[in-house]
Amino acid sequence: AAAPLPSEAARPSARGGADGSAQSRSEASLPWANALGQLAGAVRILEYDEGLHEMLATPRREVNVAIPLRRDDGRIELFKGYRVQHNVSRGPGKGGLRFHPSVDVDEVRALAMLMTWKCAVVDIPYGGAKGGVGIDPLAYSQAELERVTRRYTSEIMPMIGPEQDIMAPDMGTNEQTMAWIMDTYSASQGYTIPAVVTGKPIALGGSLGRTTATSRGVVHVTRAALAQAGSDLAGATVAVQGFGKVGAHAADIFAAEGARVVAVSDQFGGLHNADGIDVARLLAHVEATGSVVGFDGADPIDNAALLALEVDVLVPAAVEGVLDAVTAPAVRARFVVEGANGPTTAEADAILASQGIVVVPDILANAGGVVVSYFEWAQANQAYRWTLSEIESRLAERMHTAFADVTDVAAQQGLTLRDAALVIGVRRVAEAHQIRGLYP
Ligand code: GLU
Repeated sequence: AAAPLPSEAARPSARGGADGSAQSRSEASLPWANALGQLAGAVRILEYDEGLHEMLATPRREVNVAIPLRRDDGRIELFKGYRVQHNVSRGPGKGGLRFHPSVDVDEVRALAMLMTWKCAVVDIPYGGAKGGVGIDPLAYSQAELERVTRRYTSEIMPMIGPEQDIMAPDMGTNEQTMAWIMDTYSASQGYTIPAVVTGKPIALGGSLGRTTATSRGVVHVTRAALAQAGSDLAGATVAVQGFGKVGAHAADIFAAEGARVVAVSDQFGGLHNADGIDVARLLAHVEATGSVVGFDGADPIDNAALLALEVDVLVPAAVEGVLDAVTAPAVRARFVVEGANGPTTAEADAILASQGIVVVPDILANAGGVVVSYFEWAQANQAYRWTLSEIESRLAERMHTAFADVTDVAAQQGLTLRDAALVIGVRRVAEAHQIRGLYP
Protein backbone atom coordinates (compact mmCIF):
# COMPACT_ATOMS: atom_id res chain seq x y z
CA ALA A 1 0.00 0.00 0.00
CA ALA A 2 1.20 3.47 -0.83
CA ALA A 3 2.29 5.84 1.88
CA PRO A 4 -0.11 8.73 2.54
CA LEU A 5 0.41 11.45 -0.02
CA PRO A 6 0.52 15.12 0.83
CA SER A 7 -2.94 16.60 0.95
CA GLU A 8 -3.87 18.20 -2.35
CA ALA A 9 -6.91 19.89 -0.95
CA ALA A 10 -5.10 22.27 1.34
CA ARG A 11 -2.91 24.03 -1.18
CA PRO A 12 -3.51 23.15 -4.81
CA SER A 13 -0.04 23.82 -6.15
CA ALA A 14 2.07 23.81 -3.03
CA ARG A 15 4.16 21.07 -4.55
CA GLY A 16 3.83 22.19 -8.14
CA GLY A 17 6.63 21.67 -10.55
CA ALA A 18 10.23 22.53 -10.08
CA ASP A 19 11.28 25.62 -11.91
CA GLY A 20 7.64 26.58 -12.11
CA SER A 21 8.10 30.32 -12.33
CA ALA A 22 6.46 32.42 -14.98
CA GLN A 23 9.87 33.86 -15.76
CA SER A 24 11.34 30.51 -16.77
CA ARG A 25 9.62 30.78 -20.14
CA SER A 26 11.58 32.91 -22.56
CA GLU A 27 8.59 33.68 -24.73
CA ALA A 28 4.94 33.54 -23.74
CA SER A 29 3.91 31.86 -26.95
CA LEU A 30 6.57 29.14 -26.94
CA PRO A 31 4.21 26.26 -26.02
CA TRP A 32 1.84 27.22 -28.85
CA ALA A 33 4.66 27.52 -31.41
CA ASN A 34 5.89 24.14 -30.20
CA ALA A 35 2.43 22.54 -30.56
CA LEU A 36 1.96 24.01 -34.05
CA GLY A 37 5.41 22.75 -35.05
CA GLN A 38 4.55 19.23 -33.86
CA LEU A 39 1.29 19.28 -35.82
CA ALA A 40 3.09 20.53 -38.94
CA GLY A 41 5.52 17.62 -38.66
CA ALA A 42 2.67 15.09 -38.47
CA VAL A 43 0.83 16.76 -41.37
CA ARG A 44 3.97 16.48 -43.50
CA ILE A 45 4.30 12.77 -42.76
CA LEU A 46 0.58 12.21 -43.43
CA GLU A 47 0.76 14.33 -46.60
CA TYR A 48 -2.39 16.28 -45.72
CA ASP A 49 -3.29 19.34 -47.74
CA GLU A 50 -3.21 22.92 -46.51
CA GLY A 51 -6.95 23.11 -45.85
CA LEU A 52 -6.98 20.07 -43.58
CA HIS A 53 -3.81 21.33 -41.87
CA GLU A 54 -5.46 24.66 -41.12
CA MET A 55 -8.59 22.93 -39.82
CA LEU A 56 -6.47 20.83 -37.46
CA ALA A 57 -4.39 23.82 -36.34
CA THR A 58 -7.31 26.12 -35.53
CA PRO A 59 -9.25 25.86 -32.26
CA ARG A 60 -12.99 25.46 -32.79
CA ARG A 61 -13.96 27.81 -29.99
CA GLU A 62 -12.12 30.09 -27.56
CA VAL A 63 -13.54 32.15 -24.74
CA ASN A 64 -11.75 34.91 -22.82
CA VAL A 65 -13.33 35.94 -19.55
CA ALA A 66 -12.64 38.53 -16.89
CA ILE A 67 -12.88 37.28 -13.32
CA PRO A 68 -13.29 40.00 -10.72
CA LEU A 69 -12.52 38.76 -7.20
CA ARG A 70 -13.53 40.40 -3.96
CA ARG A 71 -10.53 39.69 -1.71
CA ASP A 72 -11.05 38.67 1.89
CA ASP A 73 -10.03 42.22 2.90
CA GLY A 74 -12.62 43.82 0.59
CA ARG A 75 -10.30 44.94 -2.24
CA ILE A 76 -11.23 43.96 -5.81
CA GLU A 77 -8.73 42.18 -8.03
CA LEU A 78 -9.20 41.09 -11.63
CA PHE A 79 -7.98 37.88 -13.28
CA LYS A 80 -8.10 36.67 -16.84
CA GLY A 81 -9.51 33.27 -17.65
CA TYR A 82 -9.71 31.15 -20.79
CA ARG A 83 -11.38 28.05 -22.11
CA VAL A 84 -10.31 26.71 -25.48
CA GLN A 85 -12.01 23.83 -27.30
CA HIS A 86 -9.40 22.86 -29.81
CA ASN A 87 -11.29 20.06 -31.55
CA VAL A 88 -14.57 18.20 -31.03
CA SER A 89 -14.62 15.87 -34.04
CA ARG A 90 -14.30 12.70 -31.92
CA GLY A 91 -16.51 13.81 -29.03
CA PRO A 92 -16.98 16.51 -26.42
CA GLY A 93 -14.10 18.75 -25.40
CA LYS A 94 -12.00 17.28 -22.59
CA GLY A 95 -9.16 18.72 -20.61
CA GLY A 96 -7.95 20.24 -17.41
CA LEU A 97 -8.20 23.64 -15.79
CA ARG A 98 -4.91 25.27 -14.83
CA PHE A 99 -4.34 27.98 -12.21
CA HIS A 100 -0.89 29.48 -12.70
CA PRO A 101 0.37 33.07 -12.86
CA SER A 102 1.88 32.59 -16.33
CA VAL A 103 -1.31 31.22 -17.94
CA ASP A 104 -2.22 33.00 -21.17
CA VAL A 105 -4.39 32.14 -24.15
CA ASP A 106 -1.47 30.78 -26.18
CA GLU A 107 -0.51 28.33 -23.47
CA VAL A 108 -4.12 27.20 -23.05
CA ARG A 109 -4.43 26.74 -26.83
CA ALA A 110 -1.29 24.62 -26.89
CA LEU A 111 -2.50 22.47 -24.02
CA ALA A 112 -5.95 22.11 -25.64
CA MET A 113 -4.34 20.89 -28.86
CA LEU A 114 -2.24 18.37 -26.93
CA MET A 115 -5.46 17.08 -25.31
CA THR A 116 -6.97 16.48 -28.77
CA TRP A 117 -4.09 14.25 -29.86
CA LYS A 118 -3.80 12.63 -26.42
CA CYS A 119 -7.45 11.53 -26.30
CA ALA A 120 -7.12 10.17 -29.83
CA VAL A 121 -3.87 8.27 -29.09
CA VAL A 122 -5.49 6.40 -26.20
CA ASP A 123 -8.69 6.16 -28.25
CA ILE A 124 -11.20 7.66 -25.85
CA PRO A 125 -14.27 9.39 -27.31
CA TYR A 126 -13.32 13.01 -26.73
CA GLY A 127 -11.98 16.03 -28.48
CA GLY A 128 -9.47 18.28 -26.76
CA ALA A 129 -9.94 21.37 -24.61
CA LYS A 130 -8.17 23.24 -21.84
CA GLY A 131 -8.88 26.05 -19.41
CA GLY A 132 -6.74 28.39 -17.42
CA VAL A 133 -6.80 31.31 -15.03
CA GLY A 134 -3.78 33.58 -14.59
CA ILE A 135 -3.62 33.32 -10.81
CA ASP A 136 -1.08 32.05 -8.31
CA PRO A 137 -3.22 29.78 -6.13
CA LEU A 138 -0.65 29.87 -3.33
CA ALA A 139 -1.22 33.59 -2.83
CA TYR A 140 -4.98 33.33 -2.14
CA SER A 141 -7.16 31.88 0.61
CA GLN A 142 -9.44 28.89 0.03
CA ALA A 143 -12.46 31.20 0.18
CA GLU A 144 -10.91 33.44 -2.49
CA LEU A 145 -10.06 30.46 -4.72
CA GLU A 146 -13.63 29.23 -4.34
CA ARG A 147 -15.00 32.61 -5.50
CA VAL A 148 -12.58 32.71 -8.46
CA THR A 149 -13.52 29.14 -9.46
CA ARG A 150 -17.26 29.76 -9.21
CA ARG A 151 -17.08 33.03 -11.15
CA TYR A 152 -14.90 31.43 -13.85
CA THR A 153 -17.40 28.55 -14.12
CA SER A 154 -20.30 30.93 -14.38
CA GLU A 155 -18.54 32.98 -17.10
CA ILE A 156 -17.84 29.93 -19.29
CA MET A 157 -21.14 28.18 -18.43
CA PRO A 158 -22.62 28.28 -21.96
CA MET A 159 -19.75 26.25 -23.39
CA ILE A 160 -19.36 23.49 -20.77
CA GLY A 161 -21.51 20.48 -19.94
CA PRO A 162 -21.30 16.69 -19.69
CA GLU A 163 -21.95 16.31 -23.43
CA GLN A 164 -20.10 19.46 -24.42
CA ASP A 165 -16.88 20.08 -22.54
CA ILE A 166 -15.69 18.32 -19.39
CA MET A 167 -13.05 19.89 -17.12
CA ALA A 168 -10.58 18.12 -14.83
CA PRO A 169 -7.71 19.14 -12.55
CA ASP A 170 -4.41 20.37 -13.93
CA MET A 171 -1.54 22.36 -12.42
CA GLY A 172 -2.77 24.48 -9.49
CA THR A 173 -6.25 22.94 -9.29
CA ASN A 174 -7.48 19.83 -7.52
CA GLU A 175 -10.52 17.77 -6.57
CA GLN A 176 -11.87 20.60 -4.41
CA THR A 177 -11.78 22.90 -7.45
CA MET A 178 -13.76 20.28 -9.39
CA ALA A 179 -16.32 20.04 -6.56
CA TRP A 180 -16.91 23.82 -6.75
CA ILE A 181 -17.30 23.69 -10.54
CA MET A 182 -19.71 20.75 -10.32
CA ASP A 183 -21.75 22.54 -7.65
CA THR A 184 -21.87 25.85 -9.54
CA TYR A 185 -22.90 24.14 -12.78
CA SER A 186 -25.46 21.91 -11.04
CA ALA A 187 -26.97 24.90 -9.20
CA SER A 188 -27.49 26.65 -12.54
CA GLN A 189 -29.28 23.62 -14.01
CA GLY A 190 -31.32 22.81 -10.91
CA TYR A 191 -30.05 19.28 -10.28
CA THR A 192 -26.77 17.46 -9.61
CA ILE A 193 -24.71 16.74 -12.73
CA PRO A 194 -21.60 14.80 -11.73
CA ALA A 195 -20.46 14.17 -15.34
CA VAL A 196 -19.69 17.86 -15.97
CA VAL A 197 -16.22 17.42 -14.44
CA THR A 198 -13.83 14.58 -13.69
CA GLY A 199 -11.22 14.34 -10.97
CA LYS A 200 -13.95 14.96 -8.39
CA PRO A 201 -13.69 13.90 -4.75
CA ILE A 202 -14.73 10.26 -4.26
CA ALA A 203 -17.62 11.48 -2.07
CA LEU A 204 -19.12 13.27 -5.10
CA GLY A 205 -18.70 10.43 -7.59
CA GLY A 206 -15.01 10.71 -8.26
CA SER A 207 -13.41 7.55 -9.59
CA LEU A 208 -11.25 5.26 -7.54
CA GLY A 209 -7.73 5.41 -8.91
CA ARG A 210 -8.09 8.85 -10.54
CA THR A 211 -5.58 10.71 -8.32
CA THR A 212 -2.79 8.27 -9.12
CA ALA A 213 -3.86 7.50 -12.72
CA THR A 214 -1.50 9.85 -14.59
CA SER A 215 1.46 8.59 -12.57
CA ARG A 216 0.44 4.96 -12.91
CA GLY A 217 0.23 5.45 -16.66
CA VAL A 218 3.73 6.99 -16.64
CA VAL A 219 5.01 3.87 -14.89
CA HIS A 220 3.18 1.52 -17.32
CA VAL A 221 4.79 3.12 -20.38
CA THR A 222 8.18 3.30 -18.68
CA ARG A 223 8.03 -0.42 -17.93
CA ALA A 224 7.00 -1.13 -21.53
CA ALA A 225 9.77 1.07 -22.97
CA LEU A 226 12.41 -0.54 -20.75
CA ALA A 227 11.14 -4.03 -21.63
CA GLN A 228 11.46 -3.25 -25.32
CA ALA A 229 15.10 -2.39 -24.70
CA GLY A 230 15.58 -5.64 -22.78
CA SER A 231 15.64 -3.91 -19.35
CA ASP A 232 13.61 -4.28 -16.20
CA LEU A 233 11.85 -1.60 -14.21
CA ALA A 234 13.08 -3.32 -11.05
CA GLY A 235 16.50 -1.85 -10.32
CA ALA A 236 16.22 0.89 -12.98
CA THR A 237 17.36 4.33 -11.82
CA VAL A 238 14.84 7.16 -12.08
CA ALA A 239 15.02 10.96 -11.65
CA VAL A 240 11.75 12.86 -11.29
CA GLN A 241 11.68 16.61 -11.96
CA GLY A 242 8.55 18.08 -10.37
CA PHE A 243 7.02 16.66 -7.21
CA GLY A 244 3.39 17.64 -7.73
CA LYS A 245 0.32 15.55 -8.50
CA VAL A 246 2.13 13.64 -11.24
CA GLY A 247 5.71 13.49 -10.00
CA ALA A 248 5.09 12.59 -6.35
CA HIS A 249 2.77 9.70 -7.12
CA ALA A 250 5.07 8.55 -9.93
CA ALA A 251 8.07 8.47 -7.58
CA ASP A 252 5.98 6.54 -5.07
CA ILE A 253 4.82 3.96 -7.65
CA PHE A 254 8.28 3.64 -9.22
CA ALA A 255 9.73 2.87 -5.78
CA ALA A 256 6.92 0.40 -5.03
CA GLU A 257 7.71 -1.38 -8.32
CA GLY A 258 11.34 -1.80 -7.35
CA ALA A 259 12.90 1.04 -9.34
CA ARG A 260 15.53 3.19 -7.60
CA VAL A 261 14.38 6.82 -7.39
CA VAL A 262 17.73 8.62 -7.15
CA ALA A 263 16.59 12.23 -7.51
CA VAL A 264 13.48 14.40 -7.20
CA SER A 265 12.84 18.13 -7.20
CA ASP A 266 10.09 20.67 -6.69
CA GLN A 267 9.92 24.41 -7.27
CA PHE A 268 11.89 25.04 -4.06
CA GLY A 269 14.81 22.65 -4.65
CA GLY A 270 15.96 19.12 -5.39
CA LEU A 271 17.32 15.98 -3.71
CA HIS A 272 19.81 13.34 -4.79
CA ASN A 273 20.77 9.99 -3.29
CA ALA A 274 22.55 7.51 -5.56
CA ASP A 275 21.45 4.62 -3.33
CA GLY A 276 17.81 5.56 -3.79
CA ILE A 277 15.54 7.95 -1.92
CA ASP A 278 13.12 6.50 0.65
CA VAL A 279 10.05 7.89 -1.14
CA ALA A 280 7.55 6.92 1.57
CA ARG A 281 9.57 8.84 4.16
CA LEU A 282 10.01 11.76 1.74
CA LEU A 283 6.24 11.96 1.21
CA ALA A 284 5.76 12.30 4.96
CA HIS A 285 8.37 15.10 4.96
CA VAL A 286 6.57 16.90 2.11
CA GLU A 287 3.23 16.49 3.87
CA ALA A 288 4.71 18.11 6.97
CA THR A 289 6.74 20.91 5.33
CA GLY A 290 5.22 21.55 1.89
CA SER A 291 8.47 20.86 0.01
CA VAL A 292 11.11 18.21 -0.62
CA VAL A 293 13.75 20.69 0.65
CA GLY A 294 15.35 19.81 3.97
CA PHE A 295 14.72 16.05 3.74
CA ASP A 296 17.50 14.30 5.66
CA GLY A 297 17.71 11.18 3.48
CA ALA A 298 19.40 12.80 0.46
CA ASP A 299 21.74 15.60 -0.61
CA PRO A 300 20.58 18.83 -2.25
CA ILE A 301 20.82 19.06 -6.04
CA ASP A 302 19.85 21.87 -8.40
CA ASN A 303 17.50 21.53 -11.34
CA ALA A 304 20.19 21.61 -14.05
CA ALA A 305 22.21 18.89 -12.30
CA LEU A 306 19.11 16.73 -11.84
CA LEU A 307 18.30 16.92 -15.55
CA ALA A 308 21.89 15.91 -16.35
CA LEU A 309 22.06 12.82 -14.10
CA GLU A 310 23.15 9.53 -15.63
CA VAL A 311 19.97 7.54 -15.03
CA ASP A 312 17.89 5.03 -16.91
CA VAL A 313 14.77 7.19 -16.81
CA LEU A 314 14.27 10.96 -16.51
CA VAL A 315 10.68 12.03 -15.85
CA PRO A 316 9.99 15.74 -16.37
CA ALA A 317 6.74 16.18 -14.43
CA ALA A 318 6.44 19.93 -14.02
CA VAL A 319 6.02 22.82 -16.46
CA GLU A 320 6.53 23.23 -20.20
CA GLY A 321 9.85 23.81 -21.88
CA VAL A 322 12.14 22.41 -19.16
CA LEU A 323 14.18 20.50 -21.73
CA ASP A 324 15.37 23.13 -24.19
CA ALA A 325 18.42 23.92 -26.31
CA VAL A 326 20.38 24.72 -23.13
CA THR A 327 19.45 21.79 -20.89
CA ALA A 328 18.96 18.98 -23.46
CA PRO A 329 22.63 18.59 -24.50
CA ALA A 330 23.50 17.65 -20.90
CA VAL A 331 20.84 14.93 -20.56
CA ARG A 332 22.40 11.48 -19.97
CA ALA A 333 19.25 9.46 -19.31
CA ARG A 334 18.42 6.52 -21.60
CA PHE A 335 14.73 7.39 -21.60
CA VAL A 336 12.84 10.63 -21.09
CA VAL A 337 9.25 9.89 -20.08
CA GLU A 338 7.12 13.04 -20.23
CA GLY A 339 4.89 13.23 -17.16
CA ALA A 340 4.35 16.93 -17.87
CA ASN A 341 2.64 18.42 -20.91
CA GLY A 342 5.09 19.93 -23.39
CA PRO A 343 8.28 19.67 -21.27
CA THR A 344 10.53 19.30 -24.35
CA THR A 345 10.98 22.06 -26.94
CA ALA A 346 11.38 21.21 -30.62
CA GLU A 347 15.11 22.00 -30.47
CA ALA A 348 15.54 19.77 -27.44
CA ASP A 349 13.64 16.98 -29.16
CA ALA A 350 16.13 17.01 -32.03
CA ILE A 351 19.10 17.13 -29.63
CA LEU A 352 17.80 14.19 -27.57
CA ALA A 353 17.11 12.15 -30.71
CA SER A 354 20.63 12.81 -32.02
CA GLN A 355 21.99 11.52 -28.70
CA GLY A 356 20.00 8.30 -29.06
CA ILE A 357 17.78 9.15 -26.10
CA VAL A 358 14.27 7.73 -26.42
CA VAL A 359 11.53 10.23 -25.55
CA VAL A 360 8.16 8.76 -24.59
CA PRO A 361 5.97 11.75 -25.48
CA ASP A 362 3.47 13.50 -23.23
CA ILE A 363 0.41 12.60 -25.32
CA LEU A 364 1.18 8.95 -24.63
CA ALA A 365 3.13 9.00 -21.36
CA ASN A 366 0.78 11.14 -19.27
CA ALA A 367 -2.50 10.00 -20.82
CA GLY A 368 -3.39 7.78 -17.85
CA GLY A 369 -5.07 10.74 -16.15
CA VAL A 370 -7.52 11.45 -18.91
CA VAL A 371 -8.11 7.72 -19.42
CA VAL A 372 -9.37 7.39 -15.85
CA SER A 373 -11.23 10.70 -16.31
CA TYR A 374 -13.05 8.90 -19.12
CA PHE A 375 -13.78 6.01 -16.75
CA GLU A 376 -15.11 8.51 -14.18
CA TRP A 377 -17.37 10.12 -16.80
CA ALA A 378 -18.55 6.69 -17.99
CA GLN A 379 -19.36 5.73 -14.39
CA ALA A 380 -21.30 8.97 -13.90
CA ASN A 381 -23.26 8.38 -17.10
CA GLN A 382 -23.97 4.77 -16.11
CA ALA A 383 -24.66 5.75 -12.50
CA TYR A 384 -22.68 2.63 -11.66
CA ARG A 385 -19.36 2.43 -9.80
CA TRP A 386 -16.51 0.28 -10.96
CA THR A 387 -14.11 -1.40 -8.55
CA LEU A 388 -10.51 -0.26 -8.20
CA SER A 389 -9.23 -3.45 -9.77
CA GLU A 390 -11.51 -2.97 -12.81
CA ILE A 391 -10.19 0.57 -13.20
CA GLU A 392 -6.53 -0.37 -12.74
CA SER A 393 -6.71 -3.26 -15.19
CA ARG A 394 -8.59 -1.25 -17.84
CA LEU A 395 -6.07 1.58 -17.46
CA ALA A 396 -3.15 -0.82 -17.87
CA GLU A 397 -4.77 -2.35 -20.94
CA ARG A 398 -5.37 1.06 -22.59
CA MET A 399 -1.85 2.27 -21.87
CA HIS A 400 -0.28 -0.91 -23.22
CA THR A 401 -2.46 -0.86 -26.35
CA ALA A 402 -1.56 2.79 -27.02
CA PHE A 403 2.13 2.09 -26.39
CA ALA A 404 2.04 -0.83 -28.85
CA ASP A 405 0.18 1.28 -31.46
CA VAL A 406 2.80 4.03 -31.16
CA THR A 407 5.85 1.76 -31.21
CA ASP A 408 4.43 -0.17 -34.20
CA VAL A 409 3.98 3.00 -36.26
CA ALA A 410 7.41 4.25 -35.14
CA ALA A 411 9.04 0.99 -36.29
CA GLN A 412 7.10 0.75 -39.56
CA GLN A 413 7.70 4.33 -40.61
CA GLY A 414 11.07 4.99 -38.98
CA LEU A 415 9.69 7.73 -36.72
CA THR A 416 10.44 8.92 -33.20
CA LEU A 417 7.84 7.91 -30.64
CA ARG A 418 6.63 11.54 -30.57
CA ASP A 419 6.09 11.70 -34.32
CA ALA A 420 4.45 8.27 -34.30
CA ALA A 421 2.07 9.27 -31.50
CA LEU A 422 1.23 12.53 -33.28
CA VAL A 423 0.63 10.70 -36.56
CA ILE A 424 -1.80 8.33 -34.84
CA GLY A 425 -3.60 11.09 -32.94
CA VAL A 426 -3.81 13.49 -35.88
CA ARG A 427 -4.93 10.75 -38.28
CA ARG A 428 -7.74 9.59 -35.97
CA VAL A 429 -9.01 13.16 -35.61
CA ALA A 430 -8.75 13.86 -39.35
CA GLU A 431 -10.59 10.61 -40.11
CA ALA A 432 -13.46 11.51 -37.79
CA HIS A 433 -13.60 14.99 -39.29
CA GLN A 434 -13.68 13.67 -42.85
CA ILE A 435 -16.30 11.00 -42.18
CA ARG A 436 -18.57 13.55 -40.48
CA GLY A 437 -18.23 15.91 -43.43
CA LEU A 438 -18.60 19.66 -43.37
CA TYR A 439 -21.67 21.55 -42.25
CA PRO A 440 -23.26 23.14 -44.23
N1 GLU B 1 -4.93 17.75 -16.90
C1 GLU B 1 -4.71 16.38 -17.28
C2 GLU B 1 -3.97 16.29 -18.59
O1 GLU B 1 -3.30 17.21 -18.99
C3 GLU B 1 -5.99 15.57 -17.25
C4 GLU B 1 -7.07 16.03 -18.18
C5 GLU B 1 -8.38 15.30 -17.96
O2 GLU B 1 -8.44 14.36 -17.21
O3 GLU B 1 -9.35 15.73 -18.59
O4 GLU B 1 -3.98 15.28 -19.25
